Amino acid sequence: MADLKFTDERFQLTDEKAALALEVLRQRLNRQLEASLEVCVRCGLCADSCHYYVANPKPEYVPAYRAEQLRKIYRKLSDPLSKVAPRWTGAVDLDQEMIEQLIQTAFGSCTMCGRCVINCPMGVDNRLIARTARAMLTAIDMTPEGLKATVNIHLETGNNMGVSEEDYVETVKWMEEELQAELDDPSIHIPFNKKRAHVVYTFNPREVKYFPYLIQAAAKIFHAAGEDWTLSTESWDATNYGLFSGDDAAARQIAANLERGLIIWGRTCWSWRNVDMVTARSVGRLKTGWGMAIHSRF
Ligand code: SF4
Ligand code: SF4
Repeated sequence: MADLKFTDERFQLTDEKAALALEVLRQRLNRQLEASLEVCVRCGLCADSCHYYVANPKPEYVPAYRAEQLRKIYRKLSDPLSKVAPRWTGAVDLDQEMIEQLIQTAFGSCTMCGRCVINCPMGVDNRLIARTARAMLTAIDMTPEGLKATVNIHLETGNNMGVSEEDYVETVKWMEEELQAELDDPSIHIPFNKKRAHVVYTFNPREVKYFPYLIQAAAKIFHAAGEDWTLSTESWDATNYGLFSGDDAAARQIAANLERGLIIWGRTCWSWRNVDMVTARSVGRLKTGWGMAIHSRF
């Protein structure tokens, strides 16, 4: 990972940090995680499921290899045999070498898309393992700088790229004009904060910064479908890098921000995971599904 320098002081493992990381692991151990840590048979079928391995077929991109880094620590923590014969079982202590290995494998090569989970004959959930490793590392402030900054900027500004409301609205208005010109219909509008709209469209802030025509494309579809929809000026970023980084507190806060607007749909797996896996759980009042449709409460 390009932005990591293990010589930085914050990446130096102290006894306190090691104890805290292991405590996070202990707290997160439930039947689902324990089963995923226990039942891998090293068949390797998950390799071809993962786009990272398909794009770059090296052992470190095999999902089972990445998960194995946490397994080594888990064994030492939980398995009586590993405590007395760690070399035999492949168990290790959480030391500086291991923490660097964990950082390298936990971040940057898993989007938690879930393809390997679907294809694993044993039902191993590598997403859960990756997120647990990330939660341990985030708890001891060993999240890569770029990811940490992205979470912070989302918490501070309401979106992960720090787009101002003025720039956002101006970009959308520009896309509205483009759409009117393309369809030769000046009555077309891209609505903001429409009360009781059937659909609130949320998306990745990259679209405002770099790909505004995707907003226009979505607006064109809503227009063609005759949908009752709106954008929100308050809650419009569908991403949740708190969820990605394993920072549960940040993930809840970001998800709660989305809930204020209530939702719909984004293009990425992250939009879906944000709404389904965190928002639905943390907020507890959303009903979601593919092609979600939830009424606006503006
Ligand atoms: S497919 Fe499942 S059981 Fe096979 S190596 Fe991958 S995680 Fe392990
Ligand atoms: S969940 Fe992660 S490891 Fe599994 S296929 Fe997706 S990116 Fe690869």
